[in-house]
Amino acid sequence: MERALKRLERVLELEKQQGYLNKAVVGGIGQFVVYWVTQAQEEAEDEADLALAEQVSQVLMDYSRLSGGEARARAIDTLLANIERRRQRHAVGPQSSAPQAPVLQPPVPQPPVPQPLAPPPSRRDEPAPRPQPTPSTLQVETELDIEDEEDEEPALEEETWEPESDEELDQPPVAADPVGLSRPITSLKGVGPKIAEKLNKLDVTTIWELLYLFPRRYDDYTLLKPISKIRYGEQVTIIGTIWQTKVRRTRTNQPITECIVNDGTGSVQATWFNQPWLAEQLPAGMQIVLSGKVELYLGRMVFNSPEWEPLEMEPLRTRRIVPIYPLTEGLNAGKMRELMQRTVKEWAGRVPDALPDEIRKRRRLYSLGRAIQQLHFPDSQDAMRRARQRLAYDELLLLQLGVQRQRRDWQTHAGTPLSIEPEQFDAFLAALPFQLTGAQQRVIDEIRADLAADRPMNRLLQGDVGSGKTVVAAAAMVTAASSGAQVALMAPTEILAEQHYRGLRGLMEPLGLRVALLTGSTAAAERSAIYEGLADGTIQIVIGTHALIQPTVQFRRLGLAIVDEQHRFGVDQRAALREKGPSENGDLLTPHLLVMSATPIPRTLALSLYGDLDLSILDELPPGRQEIKTRWLRASERERAYNFIRRQTAEGRQAYLIYPLVEESEMIDARAAVEEFDRLSREVFPDRRVGLIHGRLPSTEKEAAMRAFAGHETDMLVATSVIEVGVDVPNSTIIVIEAADRFGLAQLHQFRGRVGRGEHQSYCILIAEDVSAEAEQRLAALEATNDGFVLAERDLELRGPGEFFGRRQSGLPELRMASLLHDVEVLSMAQEDAAALFAVDPNLEWPEHQALHQQVRQFWERAADVS
Ligand code: ADP
Ligand code: MG
Repeated sequence: MERALKRLERVLELEKQQGYLNKAVVGGIGQFVVYWVTQAQEEAEDEADLALAEQVSQVLMDYSRLSGGEARARAIDTLLANIERRRQRHAVGPQSSAPQAPVLQPPVPQPPVPQPLAPPPSRRDEPAPRPQPTPSTLQVETELDIEDEEDEEPALEEETWEPESDEELDQPPVAADPVGLSRPITSLKGVGPKIAEKLNKLDVTTIWELLYLFPRRYDDYTLLKPISKIRYGEQVTIIGTIWQTKVRRTRTNQPITECIVNDGTGSVQATWFNQPWLAEQLPAGMQIVLSGKVELYLGRMVFNSPEWEPLEMEPLRTRRIVPIYPLTEGLNAGKMRELMQRTVKEWAGRVPDALPDEIRKRRRLYSLGRAIQQLHFPDSQDAMRRARQRLAYDELLLLQLGVQRQRRDWQTHAGTPLSIEPEQFDAFLAALPFQLTGAQQRVIDEIRADLAADRPMNRLLQGDVGSGKTVVAAAAMVTAASSGAQVALMAPTEILAEQHYRGLRGLMEPLGLRVALLTGSTAAAERSAIYEGLADGTIQIVIGTHALIQPTVQFRRLGLAIVDEQHRFGVDQRAALREKGPSENGDLLTPHLLVMSATPIPRTLALSLYGDLDLSILDELPPGRQEIKTRWLRASERERAYNFIRRQTAEGRQAYLIYPLVEESEMIDARAAVEEFDRLSREVFPDRRVGLIHGRLPSTEKEAAMRAFAGHETDMLVATSVIEVGVDVPNSTIIVIEAADRFGLAQLHQFRGRVGRGEHQSYCILIAEDVSAEAEQRLAALEATNDGFVLAERDLELRGPGEFFGRRQSGLPELRMASLLHDVEVLSMAQEDAAALFAVDPNLEWPEHQALHQQVRQFWERAADVS
């Protein structure tokens, strides 16, 4: 349970440092512990662990209700002491010397499919291979646990970390590719055109790529149990022969597939529901690997819907931890392993290792060659962990080097100090229709302090949907504009830009500031007028889309750039924006930058991810917000949703109906939305005013539809996902999301944030049928909570960070090996090491840093390619 405890300790220590304000994690400690306890229970090694997890959850669940620092301090200290006691117990207990039992994992939470870190040069321009799904619970735990190892490892003895026998695995780093790793796989012995073609399907064409085709999981036969030894409640793997398979039907006529599996020590029954076709795939006589939780049915032990796989006998003879590669038709597992074994033996050691030796030794990381070798053919669970750790470290180091570099770049030139007369600022505040929340006040102070400095601000503002980021942006704008600087606000879509324009103009113009809207569809004449106004400084504030960073746009004195919804703002855009700064006496000045994001991530994580990038968090919603009631309905229950809409609109409220991405093509989506719109407005709601908005409409029509809805000229708005972010119509109280399972959790949460923005109770109805197990968890999570932070953690767990923090979300490169959720220690190592590298060699020019330099570039270029 060490990992869970470490995570908990970090949070509690931070909470202590911060003076017990319940701010160590966004959403509060009570929320954190709800998810923590699941992890802890999974990792628990004995009854005492379970009891400890229970105690932690009991105490912390009510943390927010403990009044005063003293009570909170007592609670935390008690828990920390108990954790310490547990550690001592385990240090002296009999378990300490036994190797950690490998943990069977449920299929989803970790990023199991390692992919090339620095993809071989020949294919850099092609899309990176997608990680394969991992359908089996046979997957082996490969999380890192660095601390665990520290005690066991002797001091910094180089030899310890080198491969025992294969010296070739650790050659000095090479810069380019003199060894021929980019050669086609057909140059390998035994790989002819036929096999090459099959490997091509896995995006493997070169030797290098083959080496980086890591197992999608492992079968660890050390976890096996004979059937006679399995116990109720255990998670186990068995191997046996199918004695009998049959399909029977329940009283409600649901098919149930039942198998009897025997392994010579006993028999057990496995049952699958609603999958009658399984019977054919599981004939009597077949040898099978089953993995799942042992349950009781009528007094007998059974597996309900266990993971299963045909047994391959061959590996059993050779190894205990067997790599399972992505499947290729016509290339059987044995052959694949054999090919890998030869390739790894011959080539792994020749892969150039860009990591400076000094770091590798200090951090006691595997050499790259050894890591690759052990990831394919691990000698032990421990070796596998360390191999993965090395590759995860590499990714996180490249990530950190990039993030820190971005910040340094932003701040290489000076900025302009900007401030506002207090009376003027008070006038702005007085004109607001509401009082700022405490969080808004705090964040505005942080921003104004940054603006007042001559170092350009580079701040990330995080706040859940509806936390009131817009007014924070407005405060920054007023501050900048009143000291004579220009301000640009960039939004991801025209609709949002237009909405910001409508909202902010009302606040800015009374203060004598001129505001313009510039998007892709601004008419030519107006556009040139705006260009002129920006160039001569008569326009102080411009709001728009990416149109703002086109080369034709020139500012006279751009002092502040604000970017709304960070996840569509890539590296290039950042650079383009920076270029727009003014120059003074030939010196380029960098504008202050404020990036606003509605994707909540845990505070600790945000801090380690962004390094010391300044981070502001809006962790308080404006007063009077109600919980949005969320229900998941089947398609057959859709009529209930319609009735509900009828009632709400009769009471004067408004509703959104969201249709998903049906196809990759906007055109087809638009058509689907148009058809639904026809049907709804004619057949279902003939007596309601229905509007329509989708991505293919000309922007005047989009604007018109939005305006009509905002002005309550329509009761309902049928929309595709263009509506996603930021749209604000407080009178709307229902959002119905069709095919909700096709959207990610973060996106659904964003949609839901369209309602509950006014005084009325609001509702979110998710419609989905036949969803996958993972989608089911997503929908259930939405039903269970409104808290963006909790959902963010859940989303990370469900989808893995590759998706969650994928480049589409964050503008960050995709991580394939590292997990931002689980590899927090590695991340902070990488953060330190990146800072240390920049401290001694700011441009990574030293010979020993050249290879690394190049990798950073490639890593981030890949992110830019796709964004
Ligand atoms: P987001 O953070 O999602 O961009 P918005 O800035 O759109 O949130 O604000 C959401 C809603 O809350 C808006 O209708 C806004 O007017 C309102 N709002 C913002 N701050 C406050 C406040 N301090 N008190 C009351 N309402 C507020
Ligand atoms: Mg917003």
